[in-house]
Amino acid sequence: MKVPFLDLTLQHQPLREEILAAWAATLDGNRFCLGRDVEEFEKAFAAACGGVDAVGVDNGTSALQLAAQSLGLGAGDDVVVPAFTFIASAWTATYLGARPVFADIDPAHYCVTAATIRAALTPKTRAIVVVHLFGQPAPMDEILALAAERGLKVIEDCAQAHLAQYRGRPVGLLGDAGTFSFYPTKNLGGCGEGGAVISRHAEVLKRVRTLRVHGSDRRYYHDFVGGNFRMEGLQAGALSVKLKHLPRWTARRREIAARYRAGLKLAGLAVPQAQAWGESVFHQFTLTHPRRDALREHLTRAEIGTDLIYPMPLHLQPCYAGLGYQVGSMPQAERVCATCLSLPIFPELTDAQVDHVIASVNAFAG
Ligand SMILES: *Cc1c(COP(=O)(O)O)cnc(C)c1O
Repeated sequence: MKVPFLDLTLQHQPLREEILAAWAATLDGNRFCLGRDVEEFEKAFAAACGGVDAVGVDNGTSALQLAAQSLGLGAGDDVVVPAFTFIASAWTATYLGARPVFADIDPAHYCVTAATIRAALTPKTRAIVVVHLFGQPAPMDEILALAAERGLKVIEDCAQAHLAQYRGRPVGLLGDAGTFSFYPTKNLGGCGEGGAVISRHAEVLKRVRTLRVHGSDRRYYHDFVGGNFRMEGLQAGALSVKLKHLPRWTARRREIAARYRAGLKLAGLAVPQAQAWGESVFHQFTLTHPRRDALREHLTRAEIGTDLIYPMPLHLQPCYAGLGYQVGSMPQAERVCATCLSLPIFPELTDAQVDHVIASVNAFAG
């Protein structure tokens, strides 16, 4: 039985007519760059996130940059970033001339904690990028308490955590700004690029809106140095169609994770456990095993798609060699990179496919 790591065709097939109808309306209305489709999606997405407003942008990387810029971060500032995440989390600092300072993770949930952030603080630290990695909310109470104690801004990178909640409160509205990606493979993905910023501070969103269109509130008058970070109408149209299905897709991801947790028995395997403060929305189901590469080959032979997310921590990436980190400086992130393996977990997987993955993992001879 073949089990692909991800197959977006299965998501798009049943929505094809509805998405094409939305696109026809966008085309007929010439609403390509921002416009009504984007405004409607912003309202619906904000409501789904438990907020009143959201700003749609061109991708999740821009969302992080604009959130950081709207919070006033810039040259001379240190920004704490997890050592184990996608590189864009760190660009948040780098694009603005600030310096990323990496924090190690807790392998129990793959996110940073107040303790690992504290170890990364410098006299210049101004902000923290907290990533709710793989859909698992980070331990926010202790992180927000540390941020309040030190006067730090908190940006939540929710690119993998659409609809996730921390103690019943939606992620993205806990810190000063929350950012999302709608890259096609995310839990909510467009048919192309997209992103959004949410915040409980109206002035942060107002600033992001201005930065998104060349730092301009009025056409041809520019209050700030901004850029072109507009969301496209065609993407908003597809995203509005898909957003209605996101709660169901999220429930199915959790069902699959529960099946994995109950069934996976291989010795040496560490699977993601439910955290007391909030269940993951399972953008990924990432486990660790000491013989990861052999396990992966074994699964490939059983026609099961897997991925290494992520094979190298950020503090050891060549682009950050100038920051002077050494092997051994972030032991947990380094160990996880060497032993992690992500299993298929998209909503359209059948129980039979999930059971085939479970049986194949359990049959690994080590
Ligand atoms: C995908 C992702 C981003 C970047 O989003 P894009 O839309 O691809 O620019 C940022 N942070 C994390 C954690 C991501 O997974």
